[in-house]
Amino acid sequence: MLPIVRPSYDAIVVGSGPGGAGTARELARRGMRVLVLEQGRADPLKGTVGQMAAMAAVPGKGAYLHRDASLLVAGITAGGSSAINFATAAPPPRALFARHGIDLAPALAALRAELPMAPLPDDLIGPMAARMMTAARALSLDWQKLEKMIRPASCRSGCWRCVYGCPFGAKWTARDFLDEACRHGAQLVDRARVLRVLVQDGRAAGVEVQIGGKLRTLSAPIVVSSGGGLGSPRLLHASGLGPRESSFFSDPVVAVMGSVDDIDGGAEVPMAAGLHLPEAGVALADLTLPQPMYQAFALQVGRIDRLFAHRRTLSVMVKIRDAIGGRIGPRWADKTLQEGDRKKLAHGVGMAQAILREAGAHHIFTSWHFAAHPGGSVRIGEGVDAGLQTRTPGLYVCDASVIPGPWGLPPTLTLLCLGKRLGMRLAGVA
Ligand SMILES: Cc1cc2nc3c(=O)[nH]c(=O)nc-3n(C[C@H](O)[C@H](O)[C@H](O)COP(=O)(O)OP(=O)(O)OC[C@H]3O[C@@H](n4cnc5c(N)ncnc54)[C@H](O)[C@@H]3O)c2cc1C
Repeated sequence: MLPIVRPSYDAIVVGSGPGGAGTARELARRGMRVLVLEQGRADPLKGTVGQMAAMAAVPGKGAYLHRDASLLVAGITAGGSSAINFATAAPPPRALFARHGIDLAPALAALRAELPMAPLPDDLIGPMAARMMTAARALSLDWQKLEKMIRPASCRSGCWRCVYGCPFGAKWTARDFLDEACRHGAQLVDRARVLRVLVQDGRAAGVEVQIGGKLRTLSAPIVVSSGGGLGSPRLLHASGLGPRESSFFSDPVVAVMGSVDDIDGGAEVPMAAGLHLPEAGVALADLTLPQPMYQAFALQVGRIDRLFAHRRTLSVMVKIRDAIGGRIGPRWADKTLQEGDRKKLAHGVGMAQAILREAGAHHIFTSWHFAAHPGGSVRIGEGVDAGLQTRTPGLYVCDASVIPGPWGLPPTLTLLCLGKRLGMRLAGVA
């Protein structure tokens, strides 16, 4: 049965990741009639590889193969990529936003009081993460526990499911904010793909959306595009309000892996601890992934000899702040590494290899690079102003695409801050 939608709302939010859910919650809390349209499904998270693949591994939807054989992934589901992310929180780099006259401190303070956000207690740090932490510290690296958006009371050790979509309610996802928005009267319609933003007399007037194969026209004086780093530039272009192609960042990652003889594990929360070198544009963390993902990494670089070593393999993630480049087109995305990106990756890989050697690992190898943070494609100061409004009054963008420059950080908390700030401003309370 098709969902019943009203012909008009106070605000329509397109996409339900952290940026969209964060905005929708603020608007709904203040009594505005809000509709959230999400092209993915809102079925409960099951924590299975099949459901995860349907959300993030469908070519041309959640997964994009670049010309250099690297993969870009994004979650197409209620909650966006937060449904399958690693739940690491990093505070927004305030100076980057201050340069555009944006102060995210009040939103951050409010969110800190609301979100489950703290380093994991020791009993939830897996033996592999603990071994890598000890080794990094023995090398005098400032390797610290990372803040996680996880409720420890519901989390379990020896579990690998957070990456597939936590079915235990332990991991915070943008679905938590969507639920809250709905409790305040917002409406979420899933499997609803917005085709374009409608403009009347020079102002945003609503959207054209496909719901259950039917084309609908819905009106609202406020439209917030929160389709993510890939989705928003595409929607603007499809609406005749943005360029056909947009450059972007993606925060490329490699996993450096090596086997040890005295751990039999492979099931733990990834990114429990790590190191951030902002000057170098490099971040490192433990990255124990489920077996099928590990095997895909090993296969991609031809390490058939390591295919069945998952339970004994330590894995260090190396993530870099890449330069803005590449292109997002209407149906594709492509980004290859630039010279500076390769240097950063090589620097991080050298450090990861040293950590693994210190941890007693052997058969060390490095995966091909991949990426999961597309953003910077509708940048503040270029595609939107400091209030996140496009050149079309009433049309806003709030997601990873508005990040104003090269990034290299877990973006979720920043996007929640932007969503809170935008929602409060649109509701007239900030
Ligand atoms: C494997 C993985 C691990 C990660 N780990 C972390 C981490 O530990 N910490 C962290 O902070 N970040 C992490 N991230 C990144 C983080 O989850 C994303 O940066 C964040 O979710 C982006 O939020 P967003 O608001 O830009 O929207 P997204 O999460 O990209 O969601 C956008 C939503 O909009 C929908 N949409 C797009 N276009 C349309 C349309 N036309 N009509 C209707 N709906 C549309 C999409 O289906 C999608 O659900 C990870 C990501 C991945 C994939």
